Amino acid sequence: MVRHVVSGRAHIIGAGLAGLSAAVQLVGHGISVIVHEAAGYAGGRCRSFFDHKLECEIDNGNHLVLSGNHATRDFLRLIGADNTIDVHSPADIPFVDLADGTRWSVRPDKGRIPWSLMSSRNRVPGASLSDYLQSCRIMWAKDNQSVKDVISTGGVLWRRFWAPVIVAVTNTDPAAAGAVPMRQVFAETFAKGEAACRPVFFPQGLGRSLVLPAVDFVTAMSGELRFNHRLTGVHKINDKVAALEFGKDRIDLSENDCVISAVPAAVAQKMFDGIDGPNAFSPIVNGHFRVNQVFNVLPLLGVVGGTAEWLFSRGDVVSVTASAATSLVNLPSATVAVRFWRDIQAAYGLVDVPMPSFRIVKEKRATFLQTPDQLSRRPDRRTQWHNLYLAGDWTDTGLPATIEGSIRSGASAASAALVKMNKMGGNT
Ligand SMILES: Cc1cc2nc3c(=O)[nH]c(=O)nc-3n(C[C@H](O)[C@H](O)[C@H](O)COP(=O)(O)OP(=O)(O)OC[C@H]3O[C@@H](n4cnc5c(N)ncnc54)[C@H](O)[C@@H]3O)c2cc1C
Repeated sequence: MVRHVVSGRAHIIGAGLAGLSAAVQLVGHGISVIVHEAAGYAGGRCRSFFDHKLECEIDNGNHLVLSGNHATRDFLRLIGADNTIDVHSPADIPFVDLADGTRWSVRPDKGRIPWSLMSSRNRVPGASLSDYLQSCRIMWAKDNQSVKDVISTGGVLWRRFWAPVIVAVTNTDPAAAGAVPMRQVFAETFAKGEAACRPVFFPQGLGRSLVLPAVDFVTAMSGELRFNHRLTGVHKINDKVAALEFGKDRIDLSENDCVISAVPAAVAQKMFDGIDGPNAFSPIVNGHFRVNQVFNVLPLLGVVGGTAEWLFSRGDVVSVTASAATSLVNLPSATVAVRFWRDIQAAYGLVDVPMPSFRIVKEKRATFLQTPDQLSRRPDRRTQWHNLYLAGDWTDTGLPATIEGSIRSGASAASAALVKMNKMGGNT
């Protein structure tokens, strides 16, 4: 067994966005950092890759981010990647209802109070002002409440606004999803007005905006990333993590070292004793279609009444997202592709365009199932082990399992580790 003894160092396990966020914060404070990643690449559930069938780079899944996701924006600025994104202003989120072809746009007001909803022209077609007023109850949601306990799940506003938004944000059946994370998202976006609701696009892909610049930042600041370095064992002495095992490689920790676990919930619970966490998961299915020509279509379109829920168009690739996709995930990819393509044709008016090459990406454990019961299992960043901190979208961020939640969790675990390392007289 190869042994290293290092001092005053942070070992971050996992190079998803939570791990990268922690690493970026810590190297910025002059801490010596090693990120250990099981895969041969960074990004975890938010990554880009070259698809040999489509002969282009695609993302594992379309990721919807809004301008109110301030930690994501701060992260992009810090790693020097803010110039790689497109923020669509003013906020305008278009929808189509495939049942009857109705089209509309959600255009939040500039101010916090949505006065424009007084006019039916500015509402979701068919929704009344009292439907909107009733929805305000989400702002008083309690921990054990699901969305259906606070919002009426019948009616047009539910079908044409709340259901597609909540399923996209929580990756959970929208009626059964926990109301509190939705309240938080709502408070940080729609309740702040138009400037916090602008869709953020990644025209070069997620990897070139969120992942590669973060890896470059960490290495430029003398941090190290070890790929294909899977954590396989953890040794504890008294109340501390004493050593980490990566196959045949063992790292003994010094008194001042810290560990940040930024692995998915199931891995953390297996590796570190006594950690509770969500144990039910939910799939997302994405379809990418290389249409080989650039159609003049909306870059983002919410779809109601189809199999597809959101369409994204980037260059000559049209992509589809279906969240909480338990009914799709076990179907053959060709069957899923036919259903998605039918919706694309109807939504974008491409009726004469034959189905092009496609890639269906099924993420069976895209996020944990965000019901009140599962949400109550989220752990704090601090653990019973004095030098171990938790990060990841499944930890108790108060937000749904999203990019924003992951990035905040990493920064929060890093700040807790930093306090500890300062107290211990580490290398800060
Ligand atoms: C298809 C899809 C669509 C999504 N859409 C959206 C969206 O529209 N908007 C949004 O905000 N969010 C979206 N999300 C959620 C978002 O991608 C995740 O919340 C976020 O990427 C999770 O990051 P993380 O760092 O917490 O976890 P992960 O990305 O899972 O990172 C964990 C890392 O740990 C590594 N690892 C695992 N085991 C070990 C081990 N033993 N040793 C070392 N390393 C290990 C993994 O390889 C991985 O790199 C989507 C997710 C998916 C899958």
